[in-house]
Amino acid sequence: MDCIFCEIASKDSEAEIVFENEKFIAFLDINPINYGHTLIIPKVHYDNFLTMPVEELTAMTKLGQYLAGSIKRALKADGFNIISNNGLSAGQSVFHFHYHIIPRYDNDFQMRPRTIEYKSSEIESYAEKIRESILKYESLLNG
Ligand code: 5GP
Ligand code: ZN
Repeated sequence: MDCIFCEIASKDSEAEIVFENEKFIAFLDINPINYGHTLIIPKVHYDNFLTMPVEELTAMTKLGQYLAGSIKRALKADGFNIISNNGLSAGQSVFHFHYHIIPRYDNDFQMRPRTIEYKSSEIESYAEKIRESILKYESLLNG
């Protein structure tokens, strides 16, 4: 498969690696939003957040918490974004699951999305659709 992150994980492509263990690898994004913008990936290829097995996701999130603290301290950041884009419409451009950790400094935040407004009782109907979908597959959550 043609996947740049698989190539980085297998060392067939170069990257500025900051952390590696048996399952995960973290490296600097080549087009950073801020210096030190880091990506964490599983070494095994999963397309996105939904296809990542939950045990792997839990381990990667735990690692993300540790690395975010390390990055914040190392770069004296005031805060950070930890985000994951899923699907073309959400801005995903590399279809190998990853977290972005983006160091942030006071007044540098430029990613605030435009917001829209619910009309009359629309908020209830959106919530109802989501509640129905949650209930339909609840056994997956508790099973
Ligand atoms: P996405 O848009 O999928 O959420 O994020 C993919 C990220 O991977 C982008 O921020 C992009 O700059 C970064 N990226 C793409 N190709 C490479 C590469 O070859 N090396 C590194 N280090 N980062 C890459
Ligand atoms: Zn891959």
